[in-house]
Amino acid sequence: MEWEVVIGLEIHVQLNTQSKIFSGAATAYGAQPNTQACAVDLGLPGVLPVLNKDAVAKAAMFGLAVDATINDGSVFDRKNYFYPDLPKGYQISQLAIPIVEHGTLEISLEDGTTKSVGITRAHLEEDAGKSLHEDFDGMTGIDLNRAGTPLIEIVSEPDMSSAKEAVAYMKKIHSIVTYLGICDGNMQEGSFRCDANVSVRRKGDSELGTRTETKNLNSFRFVERAINYEIERQIDVIESGGKVVQETRLYDADDDSTRAMRSKEEANDYRYFPDPDLLPVKLEQGLLEQLQASLPELPDVKQARFMDEYSLNQEDAEQLSSSRAMADYFEQVVAGEKEQAKISANWVLGELSAALNQNGLDISQSPVSAEKLAQLIARIADNTISGKIAKEVFQDMWNSDKSADQVIQEKGLQQISDVGELEAIVDKVIADNPNQVEQYLSGKDKVFGFFVGNVMKATKGKANPKQVNDLLKSKLSK
Ligand code: ADP
Ligand code: MG
Repeated sequence: MEWEVVIGLEIHVQLNTQSKIFSGAATAYGAQPNTQACAVDLGLPGVLPVLNKDAVAKAAMFGLAVDATINDGSVFDRKNYFYPDLPKGYQISQLAIPIVEHGTLEISLEDGTTKSVGITRAHLEEDAGKSLHEDFDGMTGIDLNRAGTPLIEIVSEPDMSSAKEAVAYMKKIHSIVTYLGICDGNMQEGSFRCDANVSVRRKGDSELGTRTETKNLNSFRFVERAINYEIERQIDVIESGGKVVQETRLYDADDDSTRAMRSKEEANDYRYFPDPDLLPVKLEQGLLEQLQASLPELPDVKQARFMDEYSLNQEDAEQLSSSRAMADYFEQVVAGEKEQAKISANWVLGELSAALNQNGLDISQSPVSAEKLAQLIARIADNTISGKIAKEVFQDMWNSDKSADQVIQEKGLQQISDVGELEAIVDKVIADNPNQVEQYLSGKDKVFGFFVGNVMKATKGKANPKQVNDLLKSKLSK
Protein backbone atom coordinates (compact mmCIF):
# COMPACT_ATOMS: atom_id res chain seq x y z
CA MET A 1 0.00 0.00 0.00
CA GLU A 2 1.37 3.41 -0.89
CA TRP A 3 -0.57 5.25 1.84
CA GLU A 4 0.32 5.64 5.47
CA VAL A 5 -2.42 6.25 8.04
CA VAL A 6 -1.94 8.42 11.14
CA ILE A 7 -4.43 8.35 14.01
CA GLY A 8 -4.62 10.10 17.38
CA LEU A 9 -7.53 9.66 19.79
CA GLU A 10 -9.11 11.97 22.34
CA ILE A 11 -11.04 9.87 24.83
CA HIS A 12 -13.56 11.34 27.25
CA VAL A 13 -13.86 9.38 30.46
CA GLN A 14 -16.57 10.27 32.98
CA LEU A 15 -15.23 9.90 36.49
CA ASN A 16 -17.60 8.04 38.79
CA THR A 17 -17.63 10.55 41.64
CA GLN A 18 -20.79 10.90 43.75
CA SER A 19 -21.16 14.59 43.01
CA LYS A 20 -20.15 16.93 40.21
CA ILE A 21 -16.70 18.34 39.66
CA PHE A 22 -17.52 21.84 40.99
CA SER A 23 -20.83 21.39 42.85
CA GLY A 24 -22.67 19.08 45.23
CA ALA A 25 -25.29 17.99 42.66
CA ALA A 26 -25.60 14.24 42.05
CA THR A 27 -24.04 12.59 38.99
CA ALA A 28 -26.32 9.51 38.82
CA TYR A 29 -27.39 8.60 35.30
CA GLY A 30 -31.00 8.39 34.16
CA ALA A 31 -32.75 10.87 36.50
CA GLN A 32 -35.67 13.00 35.29
CA PRO A 33 -34.30 15.74 33.02
CA ASN A 34 -33.06 18.85 34.78
CA THR A 35 -33.45 17.54 38.32
CA GLN A 36 -29.71 17.20 38.97
CA ALA A 37 -28.31 20.52 37.82
CA CYS A 38 -27.77 23.16 40.48
CA ALA A 39 -27.01 26.87 40.29
CA VAL A 40 -23.26 26.19 40.01
CA ASP A 41 -23.69 23.77 37.10
CA LEU A 42 -25.87 26.35 35.35
CA GLY A 43 -23.39 29.16 36.06
CA LEU A 44 -26.02 31.46 37.58
CA PRO A 45 -24.69 34.87 38.68
CA GLY A 46 -22.86 34.91 41.99
CA VAL A 47 -22.09 31.20 42.27
CA LEU A 48 -18.60 29.87 42.99
CA PRO A 49 -17.26 26.49 41.91
CA VAL A 50 -15.55 24.30 44.52
CA LEU A 51 -13.28 21.56 43.21
CA ASN A 52 -14.21 17.94 44.00
CA LYS A 53 -11.23 16.27 45.68
CA ASP A 54 -12.27 12.80 44.51
CA ALA A 55 -12.14 13.90 40.85
CA VAL A 56 -8.54 15.06 41.34
CA ALA A 57 -7.56 11.80 43.04
CA LYS A 58 -9.15 9.74 40.26
CA ALA A 59 -7.43 11.72 37.50
CA ALA A 60 -4.10 11.34 39.29
CA MET A 61 -4.71 7.62 39.66
CA PHE A 62 -5.09 7.33 35.90
CA GLY A 63 -1.81 9.22 35.46
CA LEU A 64 0.00 6.81 37.75
CA ALA A 65 -1.41 3.82 35.88
CA VAL A 66 0.11 5.04 32.59
CA ASP A 67 3.46 6.10 34.06
CA ALA A 68 2.72 9.77 33.44
CA THR A 69 3.86 12.94 35.16
CA ILE A 70 1.28 14.24 37.64
CA ASN A 71 1.51 18.02 37.71
CA ASP A 72 1.32 19.68 41.11
CA GLY A 73 -0.24 23.05 40.32
CA SER A 74 -2.42 22.26 37.31
CA VAL A 75 -4.64 25.15 36.23
CA PHE A 76 -8.32 25.36 35.28
CA ASP A 77 -9.16 27.50 32.26
CA ARG A 78 -12.40 28.71 30.77
CA LYS A 79 -13.04 27.52 27.24
CA ASN A 80 -15.56 29.98 25.86
CA TYR A 81 -18.16 28.97 23.33
CA PHE A 82 -21.88 29.23 22.82
CA TYR A 83 -24.10 26.17 22.72
CA PRO A 84 -27.59 25.54 24.10
CA ASP A 85 -26.40 22.73 26.38
CA LEU A 86 -23.76 24.99 27.93
CA PRO A 87 -25.72 27.70 29.73
CA LYS A 88 -22.62 29.22 31.36
CA GLY A 89 -21.21 30.15 27.96
CA TYR A 90 -17.93 28.47 28.88
CA GLN A 91 -16.67 25.05 29.87
CA ILE A 92 -14.14 24.74 32.68
CA SER A 93 -11.20 22.71 31.35
CA GLN A 94 -7.40 22.69 31.57
CA LEU A 95 -5.23 24.00 28.74
CA ALA A 96 -1.63 24.98 29.49
CA ILE A 97 -1.06 22.93 32.64
CA PRO A 98 -3.15 19.74 32.69
CA ILE A 99 -3.08 17.43 35.69
CA VAL A 100 -1.53 14.52 33.72
CA GLU A 101 1.16 14.63 30.99
CA HIS A 102 3.58 12.35 29.15
CA GLY A 103 2.21 8.88 29.77
CA THR A 104 2.54 5.73 27.75
CA LEU A 105 0.84 2.39 27.31
CA GLU A 106 1.36 -0.85 25.42
CA ILE A 107 -1.08 -2.36 22.99
CA SER A 108 -0.85 -5.82 21.40
CA LEU A 109 -1.00 -6.03 17.65
CA GLU A 110 -2.55 -8.79 15.58
CA ASP A 111 0.85 -10.23 14.63
CA GLY A 112 1.57 -10.87 18.31
CA THR A 113 3.99 -7.97 18.78
CA THR A 114 3.36 -4.99 21.03
CA LYS A 115 3.50 -1.27 20.35
CA SER A 116 3.83 1.59 22.74
CA VAL A 117 1.43 4.53 22.35
CA GLY A 118 2.22 7.92 23.85
CA ILE A 119 -0.32 9.75 25.98
CA THR A 120 0.22 13.45 25.46
CA ARG A 121 -1.95 14.59 28.33
CA ALA A 122 -5.09 13.94 30.37
CA HIS A 123 -6.87 17.01 31.66
CA LEU A 124 -9.77 17.48 34.02
CA GLU A 125 -12.90 19.20 32.74
CA GLU A 126 -16.64 19.37 33.19
CA ASP A 127 -19.09 17.69 30.85
CA ALA A 128 -21.79 19.76 29.12
CA GLY A 129 -25.54 19.11 29.20
CA LYS A 130 -27.32 17.16 26.49
CA SER A 131 -29.44 18.24 23.54
CA LEU A 132 -32.32 15.85 22.91
CA HIS A 133 -33.68 15.70 19.39
CA GLU A 134 -36.11 12.83 19.68
CA ASP A 135 -39.51 13.33 21.33
CA PHE A 136 -39.52 17.07 20.58
CA ASP A 137 -41.22 17.69 17.28
CA GLY A 138 -39.46 20.55 15.50
CA MET A 139 -37.67 21.56 18.70
CA THR A 140 -34.67 20.52 20.74
CA GLY A 141 -34.96 19.50 24.39
CA ILE A 142 -32.17 20.42 26.79
CA ASP A 143 -31.27 18.19 29.73
CA LEU A 144 -28.68 19.77 31.98
CA ASN A 145 -28.26 16.83 34.37
CA ARG A 146 -24.93 15.95 32.78
CA ALA A 147 -23.59 19.52 33.08
CA GLY A 148 -20.68 19.55 35.50
CA THR A 149 -20.06 15.80 35.48
CA PRO A 150 -16.30 15.30 35.93
CA LEU A 151 -14.34 14.10 32.92
CA ILE A 152 -10.78 13.39 32.05
CA GLU A 153 -9.99 13.92 28.40
CA ILE A 154 -7.13 11.61 27.47
CA VAL A 155 -5.23 12.82 24.40
CA SER A 156 -2.93 10.39 22.60
CA GLU A 157 0.06 11.08 20.41
CA PRO A 158 -0.66 10.42 16.71
CA ASP A 159 0.98 7.01 17.16
CA MET A 160 -1.58 4.65 15.69
CA SER A 161 -1.51 3.58 12.08
CA SER A 162 -4.70 1.58 11.52
CA ALA A 163 -8.28 1.41 12.75
CA LYS A 164 -7.44 -1.90 14.48
CA GLU A 165 -4.62 -0.27 16.44
CA ALA A 166 -6.87 2.60 17.44
CA VAL A 167 -9.47 0.15 18.74
CA ALA A 168 -6.81 -1.82 20.62
CA TYR A 169 -5.65 1.42 22.26
CA MET A 170 -9.19 2.45 23.15
CA LYS A 171 -9.94 -0.97 24.62
CA LYS A 172 -6.77 -0.76 26.68
CA ILE A 173 -7.73 2.64 28.10
CA HIS A 174 -11.23 1.28 28.81
CA SER A 175 -9.77 -1.67 30.61
CA ILE A 176 -7.41 0.51 32.67
CA VAL A 177 -10.05 3.01 33.85
CA THR A 178 -12.47 0.24 34.78
CA TYR A 179 -9.71 -1.72 36.57
CA LEU A 180 -8.90 1.43 38.50
CA GLY A 181 -12.60 1.78 39.31
CA ILE A 182 -12.59 5.46 38.31
CA CYS A 183 -15.20 5.08 35.52
CA ASP A 184 -18.12 2.69 35.07
CA GLY A 185 -17.06 2.24 31.43
CA ASN A 186 -20.66 2.25 30.19
CA MET A 187 -20.44 3.32 26.57
CA GLN A 188 -24.18 3.31 25.84
CA GLU A 189 -24.68 5.84 28.61
CA GLY A 190 -21.80 7.93 27.29
CA SER A 191 -19.45 7.37 30.24
CA PHE A 192 -16.67 6.53 27.79
CA ARG A 193 -16.52 8.09 24.32
CA CYS A 194 -13.96 9.02 21.77
CA ASP A 195 -13.05 11.55 19.06
CA ALA A 196 -10.89 10.10 16.29
CA ASN A 197 -8.31 12.26 14.51
CA VAL A 198 -7.32 10.73 11.19
CA SER A 199 -4.97 11.74 8.39
CA VAL A 200 -3.24 9.98 5.52
CA ARG A 201 0.03 10.68 3.71
CA ARG A 202 2.00 9.03 0.95
CA LYS A 203 4.58 6.59 2.20
CA GLY A 204 7.85 8.36 2.73
CA ASP A 205 6.37 11.86 3.22
CA SER A 206 7.97 13.54 6.20
CA GLU A 207 5.08 15.86 7.05
CA LEU A 208 1.80 14.71 8.52
CA GLY A 209 -1.27 15.02 6.33
CA THR A 210 -4.23 17.26 7.15
CA ARG A 211 -6.46 15.58 9.71
CA THR A 212 -10.16 15.43 10.35
CA GLU A 213 -11.72 14.81 13.76
CA THR A 214 -14.76 12.53 13.96
CA LYS A 215 -16.67 13.26 17.16
CA ASN A 216 -18.44 11.33 19.86
CA LEU A 217 -17.93 7.71 18.91
CA ASN A 218 -19.45 5.59 21.65
CA SER A 219 -18.66 2.03 20.62
CA PHE A 220 -15.51 0.18 19.58
CA ARG A 221 -17.22 -0.92 16.41
CA PHE A 222 -18.15 2.65 15.45
CA VAL A 223 -14.59 3.81 16.04
CA GLU A 224 -13.25 1.13 13.72
CA ARG A 225 -15.81 1.83 11.03
CA ALA A 226 -15.62 5.61 11.21
CA ILE A 227 -11.83 5.51 10.91
CA ASN A 228 -11.88 3.11 7.97
CA TYR A 229 -14.47 5.26 6.24
CA GLU A 230 -12.33 8.37 6.81
CA ILE A 231 -9.19 6.67 5.47
CA GLU A 232 -10.96 5.69 2.25
CA ARG A 233 -12.59 9.08 1.87
CA GLN A 234 -9.36 11.02 2.35
CA ILE A 235 -7.42 8.84 -0.07
CA ASP A 236 -10.19 9.33 -2.65
CA VAL A 237 -10.11 13.11 -2.18
CA ILE A 238 -6.34 13.28 -2.67
CA GLU A 239 -6.22 10.81 -5.55
CA SER A 240 -8.84 12.79 -7.41
CA GLY A 241 -6.73 15.91 -7.12
CA GLY A 242 -8.45 17.53 -4.13
CA LYS A 243 -7.26 18.53 -0.68
CA VAL A 244 -8.45 17.19 2.67
CA VAL A 245 -10.05 19.99 4.68
CA GLN A 246 -9.30 20.17 8.39
CA GLU A 247 -12.72 19.85 9.95
CA THR A 248 -14.89 18.24 12.56
CA ARG A 249 -17.05 15.39 11.29
CA LEU A 250 -19.94 13.30 12.56
CA TYR A 251 -20.27 9.54 12.16
CA ASP A 252 -23.64 8.24 11.03
CA ALA A 253 -24.07 4.61 12.10
CA ASP A 254 -27.14 4.15 9.89
CA ASP A 255 -25.27 4.43 6.62
CA ASP A 256 -21.80 3.88 8.08
CA SER A 257 -20.32 7.14 6.83
CA THR A 258 -19.03 10.44 8.21
CA ARG A 259 -20.13 13.93 7.20
CA ALA A 260 -18.76 17.40 7.78
CA MET A 261 -20.11 19.20 10.85
CA ARG A 262 -18.02 22.37 11.12
CA SER A 263 -14.63 23.65 10.08
CA LYS A 264 -11.94 23.12 12.66
CA GLU A 265 -11.57 25.76 15.34
CA GLU A 266 -8.19 26.63 16.83
CA ALA A 267 -7.47 26.98 20.52
CA ASN A 268 -7.47 30.76 20.24
CA ASP A 269 -11.04 30.72 18.91
CA TYR A 270 -12.07 29.71 22.40
CA ARG A 271 -10.50 32.69 24.16
CA TYR A 272 -9.12 30.44 26.86
CA PHE A 273 -8.13 32.17 30.08
CA PRO A 274 -7.45 30.88 33.62
CA ASP A 275 -10.68 30.61 35.60
CA PRO A 276 -10.51 33.43 38.17
CA ASP A 277 -12.75 31.47 40.56
CA LEU A 278 -10.43 28.48 40.85
CA LEU A 279 -6.91 28.29 42.27
CA PRO A 280 -4.15 26.10 40.84
CA VAL A 281 -4.55 22.55 42.14
CA LYS A 282 -2.01 21.79 44.86
CA LEU A 283 -1.84 18.08 45.65
CA GLU A 284 -2.03 17.10 49.28
CA GLN A 285 1.24 15.89 50.69
CA GLY A 286 1.51 12.12 50.42
CA LEU A 287 -1.48 11.85 48.06
CA LEU A 288 0.48 10.33 45.19
CA GLU A 289 2.25 7.79 47.41
CA GLN A 290 -1.09 6.83 48.89
CA LEU A 291 -2.69 6.45 45.45
CA GLN A 292 0.28 4.51 44.14
CA ALA A 293 -0.04 2.08 47.02
CA SER A 294 -3.74 1.63 46.32
CA LEU A 295 -3.38 0.80 42.62
CA PRO A 296 -4.83 -2.60 41.75
CA GLU A 297 -2.99 -5.15 39.64
CA LEU A 298 -3.35 -3.72 36.12
CA PRO A 299 -4.23 -5.66 32.94
CA ASP A 300 -0.67 -6.15 31.61
CA VAL A 301 0.65 -7.41 34.91
CA LYS A 302 -2.34 -9.67 35.37
CA GLN A 303 -1.92 -11.08 31.87
CA ALA A 304 1.72 -11.90 32.53
CA ARG A 305 0.81 -13.52 35.84
CA PHE A 306 -1.93 -15.62 34.21
CA MET A 307 0.58 -16.89 31.64
CA ASP A 308 3.09 -17.64 34.32
CA GLU A 309 0.92 -18.94 37.15
CA TYR A 310 -1.66 -20.86 35.12
CA SER A 311 0.42 -21.65 32.00
CA LEU A 312 -2.17 -20.01 29.74
CA ASN A 313 -1.29 -18.91 26.23
CA GLN A 314 -1.04 -15.20 25.51
CA GLU A 315 -4.39 -14.96 23.76
CA ASP A 316 -6.37 -16.56 26.59
CA ALA A 317 -4.50 -14.59 29.24
CA GLU A 318 -5.08 -11.34 27.39
CA GLN A 319 -8.78 -11.94 26.88
CA LEU A 320 -9.33 -13.00 30.46
CA SER A 321 -7.47 -10.02 31.87
CA SER A 322 -9.15 -7.48 29.57
CA SER A 323 -11.82 -6.98 32.21
CA ARG A 324 -11.24 -7.11 35.92
CA ALA A 325 -14.63 -8.73 36.53
CA MET A 326 -13.84 -11.50 34.03
CA ALA A 327 -10.37 -12.04 35.49
CA ASP A 328 -11.79 -12.28 39.01
CA TYR A 329 -14.48 -14.69 37.87
CA PHE A 330 -11.88 -16.88 36.16
CA GLU A 331 -9.73 -17.01 39.28
CA GLN A 332 -12.75 -17.94 41.38
CA VAL A 333 -13.51 -20.81 39.01
CA VAL A 334 -9.95 -22.09 39.21
CA ALA A 335 -9.85 -21.54 42.96
CA GLY A 336 -6.29 -22.68 43.30
CA GLU A 337 -6.70 -25.88 41.23
CA LYS A 338 -4.09 -24.90 38.68
CA GLU A 339 -4.47 -28.10 36.61
CA GLN A 340 -8.01 -26.90 35.87
CA ALA A 341 -6.85 -23.50 34.57
CA LYS A 342 -6.90 -24.32 30.85
CA ILE A 343 -10.32 -25.96 30.87
CA SER A 344 -11.64 -23.15 33.09
CA ALA A 345 -10.32 -20.56 30.64
CA ASN A 346 -12.02 -22.43 27.79
CA TRP A 347 -15.33 -22.44 29.61
CA VAL A 348 -15.19 -18.79 30.65
CA LEU A 349 -14.14 -17.59 27.19
CA GLY A 350 -16.30 -20.14 25.36
CA GLU A 351 -19.72 -21.29 26.65
CA LEU A 352 -20.06 -18.66 29.34
CA SER A 353 -19.02 -15.67 27.20
CA ALA A 354 -21.23 -16.86 24.35
CA ALA A 355 -24.26 -17.12 26.65
CA LEU A 356 -23.52 -13.71 28.17
CA ASN A 357 -23.19 -12.10 24.72
CA GLN A 358 -26.34 -13.72 23.48
CA ASN A 359 -28.27 -12.33 26.42
CA GLY A 360 -26.53 -8.95 26.46
CA LEU A 361 -25.29 -9.54 30.00
CA ASP A 362 -22.13 -8.50 31.76
CA ILE A 363 -20.19 -11.19 33.59
CA SER A 364 -21.20 -9.60 36.89
CA GLN A 365 -24.80 -10.48 35.98
CA SER A 366 -24.10 -14.09 35.06
CA PRO A 367 -26.87 -16.42 36.29
CA VAL A 368 -24.19 -19.12 36.68
CA SER A 369 -21.83 -18.17 39.47
CA ALA A 370 -18.12 -18.95 39.43
CA GLU A 371 -18.59 -21.55 42.19
CA LYS A 372 -21.26 -23.32 40.18
CA LEU A 373 -19.19 -23.35 37.01
CA ALA A 374 -16.29 -24.71 39.05
CA GLN A 375 -18.44 -27.65 40.17
CA LEU A 376 -19.48 -28.37 36.59
CA ILE A 377 -15.85 -28.41 35.49
CA ALA A 378 -14.98 -30.69 38.40
CA ARG A 379 -17.57 -33.19 37.13
CA ILE A 380 -15.86 -33.26 33.74
CA ALA A 381 -12.49 -33.71 35.41
CA ASP A 382 -13.65 -36.62 37.57
CA ASN A 383 -15.34 -38.28 34.56
CA THR A 384 -18.87 -38.01 35.92
CA ILE A 385 -19.90 -36.42 32.63
CA SER A 386 -18.29 -35.81 29.25
CA GLY A 387 -17.51 -32.33 27.95
CA LYS A 388 -20.40 -32.67 25.53
CA ILE A 389 -22.96 -33.51 28.19
CA ALA A 390 -21.51 -30.69 30.30
CA LYS A 391 -22.72 -28.19 27.69
CA GLU A 392 -26.23 -29.54 28.11
CA VAL A 393 -25.93 -29.30 31.90
CA PHE A 394 -24.65 -25.74 31.55
CA GLN A 395 -27.72 -24.71 29.57
CA ASP A 396 -29.96 -26.07 32.33
CA MET A 397 -27.92 -24.29 34.98
CA TRP A 398 -28.18 -21.07 32.98
CA ASN A 399 -31.98 -21.33 32.85
CA SER A 400 -32.51 -22.31 36.48
CA ASP A 401 -30.62 -21.79 39.68
CA LYS A 402 -29.71 -25.46 39.93
CA SER A 403 -26.20 -26.69 40.59
CA ALA A 404 -24.38 -29.01 38.20
CA ASP A 405 -24.84 -31.95 40.56
CA GLN A 406 -28.57 -31.31 40.80
CA VAL A 407 -29.00 -31.25 37.03
CA ILE A 408 -26.84 -34.36 36.53
CA GLN A 409 -28.78 -36.20 39.24
CA GLU A 410 -32.25 -35.18 38.10
CA LYS A 411 -31.61 -36.01 34.47
CA GLY A 412 -29.53 -39.09 35.17
CA LEU A 413 -26.64 -37.82 33.08
CA GLN A 414 -23.78 -39.58 34.87
CA GLN A 415 -21.47 -41.41 32.56
CA ILE A 416 -21.79 -45.15 32.51
CA SER A 417 -19.03 -46.18 34.86
CA ASP A 418 -19.95 -49.86 34.90
CA VAL A 419 -17.57 -51.44 32.37
CA GLY A 420 -19.75 -54.53 32.08
CA GLU A 421 -22.78 -52.47 31.08
CA LEU A 422 -20.79 -50.57 28.49
CA GLU A 423 -19.20 -53.74 27.17
CA ALA A 424 -22.63 -55.26 26.58
CA ILE A 425 -23.67 -52.25 24.53
CA VAL A 426 -20.45 -52.35 22.51
CA ASP A 427 -20.92 -56.05 21.82
CA LYS A 428 -24.47 -55.46 20.65
CA VAL A 429 -23.47 -52.68 18.28
CA ILE A 430 -20.77 -54.93 16.79
CA ALA A 431 -23.13 -57.88 16.48
CA ASP A 432 -25.86 -55.75 14.83
CA ASN A 433 -23.54 -54.46 12.10
CA PRO A 434 -21.63 -57.32 10.48
CA ASN A 435 -21.18 -55.43 7.18
CA GLN A 436 -19.42 -52.54 8.84
CA VAL A 437 -17.25 -54.95 10.83
CA GLU A 438 -16.15 -56.55 7.60
CA GLN A 439 -15.37 -53.18 6.04
CA TYR A 440 -13.37 -52.14 9.08
CA LEU A 441 -11.40 -55.36 9.16
CA SER A 442 -10.60 -55.00 5.48
CA GLY A 443 -8.84 -51.72 6.21
CA LYS A 444 -11.56 -49.05 6.04
CA ASP A 445 -10.49 -47.18 9.19
CA LYS A 446 -13.16 -44.54 8.75
CA VAL A 447 -15.86 -47.00 9.74
CA PHE A 448 -14.54 -46.81 13.29
CA GLY A 449 -16.39 -43.51 13.72
CA PHE A 450 -19.60 -45.27 12.81
CA PHE A 451 -19.21 -47.64 15.76
CA VAL A 452 -18.34 -44.86 18.18
CA GLY A 453 -21.38 -42.90 17.01
CA ASN A 454 -23.69 -45.86 17.47
CA VAL A 455 -22.44 -46.66 20.96
CA MET A 456 -22.85 -43.00 21.93
CA LYS A 457 -26.36 -43.01 20.51
CA ALA A 458 -27.26 -46.17 22.39
CA THR A 459 -25.99 -44.63 25.64
CA LYS A 460 -27.53 -41.21 24.96
CA GLY A 461 -24.06 -39.70 25.10
CA LYS A 462 -23.40 -40.95 28.59
CA ALA A 463 -20.50 -43.22 27.80
CA ASN A 464 -16.96 -42.08 28.47
CA PRO A 465 -15.59 -41.45 24.95
CA LYS A 466 -12.14 -42.76 25.80
CA GLN A 467 -13.52 -45.91 27.31
CA VAL A 468 -15.70 -46.48 24.25
CA ASN A 469 -12.69 -46.04 21.97
CA ASP A 470 -10.58 -48.44 23.97
CA LEU A 471 -13.29 -51.09 24.12
CA LEU A 472 -14.08 -50.87 20.41
CA LYS A 473 -10.41 -51.00 19.45
CA SER A 474 -9.78 -54.10 21.48
CA LYS A 475 -12.98 -55.88 20.42
CA LEU A 476 -12.63 -55.07 16.72
CA SER A 477 -9.04 -56.24 16.58
CA LYS A 478 -10.00 -59.74 17.65
P1 ADP B 1 -6.91 19.92 19.17
O1 ADP B 1 -6.71 20.26 20.58
O2 ADP B 1 -7.07 21.08 18.27
O3 ADP B 1 -7.98 18.91 18.94
P2 ADP B 1 -4.34 18.56 19.25
O4 ADP B 1 -3.10 19.04 18.61
O5 ADP B 1 -4.42 18.59 20.71
O6 ADP B 1 -5.55 19.28 18.60
O7 ADP B 1 -4.55 17.07 18.75
C1 ADP B 1 -5.67 16.37 18.99
C2 ADP B 1 -5.45 14.94 18.57
O8 ADP B 1 -5.17 14.86 17.18
C3 ADP B 1 -4.30 14.26 19.26
O9 ADP B 1 -4.74 12.98 19.67
C4 ADP B 1 -3.22 14.15 18.20
O10 ADP B 1 -2.45 12.99 18.37
C5 ADP B 1 -4.05 14.03 16.95
N1 ADP B 1 -3.37 14.54 15.74
C6 ADP B 1 -2.68 15.68 15.60
N2 ADP B 1 -2.25 15.83 14.34
C7 ADP B 1 -2.67 14.74 13.64
C8 ADP B 1 -2.56 14.31 12.28
N3 ADP B 1 -1.94 15.02 11.35
N4 ADP B 1 -3.15 13.14 11.94
C9 ADP B 1 -3.81 12.41 12.84
N5 ADP B 1 -3.94 12.77 14.13
C10 ADP B 1 -3.40 13.92 14.54
MG1 MG C 1 -9.69 18.20 20.14
